[in-house]
Amino acid sequence: MSVTNAQASLAHLYRVFTKPEGQDSKLAQIERHLSDNLADFLSRHVVASNRSLEDIEQDFNQSLIPEQPQFVSEHAEQLLDKLVAHSVNTYSPRFIGHMTSALPYFHLSLAKLLVGLNQNLVKIETSKAFTPLERQVLGMIHRLVYNHDDNFYQQYLHNANRSLGSFCSGGTIANISALWVARNKLFAPRGKFRGISQDGLLAGMREYGYEKLSVITSKRGHYSLGKAVDVLGLGRQSLLTLPCPRQTLDPELALKEGQAILAEGGKVMALVALAGTTETGHIDPLNELADVAAELGCHLHVDAAWGGATLFSRRYGNLLKGIERADSVTLDAHKQMYVPMGAGMVLFKDPDAGNQVRHHAQYILRQGSKDLGATSLEGSRNGMAMMLYASLHILGRNGYELLIDQSIEKAAAFATLIEAHPHFQLTTSPILCLLTYRFVPQAVQSILKGQPELAAQLNPLLDELTVAIQKQQRESGHSFVSRTRLEIQDYDSPINVFRVVLANPLTSTTDLTDILAEQERLAHTLPQYQELLTLVSRASI
Ligand SMILES: *Cc1c(COP(=O)(O)O)cnc(C)c1O
Repeated sequence: MSVTNAQASLAHLYRVFTKPEGQDSKLAQIERHLSDNLADFLSRHVVASNRSLEDIEQDFNQSLIPEQPQFVSEHAEQLLDKLVAHSVNTYSPRFIGHMTSALPYFHLSLAKLLVGLNQNLVKIETSKAFTPLERQVLGMIHRLVYNHDDNFYQQYLHNANRSLGSFCSGGTIANISALWVARNKLFAPRGKFRGISQDGLLAGMREYGYEKLSVITSKRGHYSLGKAVDVLGLGRQSLLTLPCPRQTLDPELALKEGQAILAEGGKVMALVALAGTTETGHIDPLNELADVAAELGCHLHVDAAWGGATLFSRRYGNLLKGIERADSVTLDAHKQMYVPMGAGMVLFKDPDAGNQVRHHAQYILRQGSKDLGATSLEGSRNGMAMMLYASLHILGRNGYELLIDQSIEKAAAFATLIEAHPHFQLTTSPILCLLTYRFVPQAVQSILKGQPELAAQLNPLLDELTVAIQKQQRESGHSFVSRTRLEIQDYDSPINVFRVVLANPLTSTTDLTDILAEQERLAHTLPQYQELLTLVSRASI
């Protein structure tokens, strides 16, 4: 049924903009269910279906925009059937494969407030109080990272000509923003050269006489860095990703490679260290890498998109020691700060840094205005900072500390479980709440230990087994772990591993033991398992 005649349709549009449908409407029911009991809503409506993606695509294969308006309730019904039912229940305590997890319930109501107000943070004229709020939130997180004194924050928190950083949609934009500042700082105006933002990269290279320009990071560097050097005009080849079989960037290697670039007449634009890699959660030696950056005379960026929240913990925050020496830092509030997606931050040690990318326009972002858009990469932006502001108050530093500590300790406990299990192998130990492991039958483990030369033969089979188990587990829909391919110290070639992120505070030890049991059960049904056993029986002859 759709709204057909012209009269009805105008009335329909008027209603759509003004008055919600009655209490009994479908949408009102959904809203009530969502806010009364989200877990129940999800368990009823997000069905763990075996429906294939191809099938689902059939529900979304229209290319024509519908001509006639539709009643809201009718549409809501369709959304439940087509979309919600086949979404992923990221709130499930057994969904432990990615960094997206359950959120505190109050964000649901705040999200409504956010849309209700629909503020645009690009300029004061459409945000007013939201701008000071965002600047305060940036200041709080800046202080968590850099810990300057009261005077510093009094001077810069609301300063029109300075900025402590930017809010943005996520770590990707934050990383691009940080390297954008690094690039513009490197190619500062001098003589006739008006700076790279005016004259471009080619003129900059000529003016400064660089043969090449590089960004150094490790193989664990996030893929957003590749996008960053691409959009910034350096090209993907300029990103040097150094091997890290021990999962962290070796400062000596970084220095050696950096010096080689300088010796060739090149320049290192930035060194990017990771504070919590996406794949294994390892933290690069930040202090040593700060020394390397100083030695190479380059910008130090720390990508702490995921691990930055560890700073809330007095016990584990020290793992990030040296982060305060970074010129810029990326943090994602939508990861371990439990804020809905769309909450990234880039912070700058020097409140002047943002001026490297300051942009003015006539109708907004005027000189001297406090418009946040003047130094941000993005334009129109919503007030996501409110969500972090609320969380920082409702959870407080102590609440966040507890969440972080618990996740880290849960990961340690899970690692112990895996190590104690005869048929699982821990492939990277958790530093934070992320770990990797794989299923390796005990007999195979003995061979890998006793005859390491057979690893090259066994690992490819184990790789296949890991993939097969992971797929089956995902498809059966009870639990989810992700997988990746990693170089680890024990073997010459990369191996496939399960990857687990223990961020959901509701995940229990029972959930974890059940997940292992399910994987073991699945393994036994797979042909790769039989092949392995056959190979093993031959090897031991
Ligand atoms: C998640 C992540 C990013 C990217 O952040 P998005 O919010 O997905 O854009 C960058 N770096 C690291 C280390 C991350 O974990």
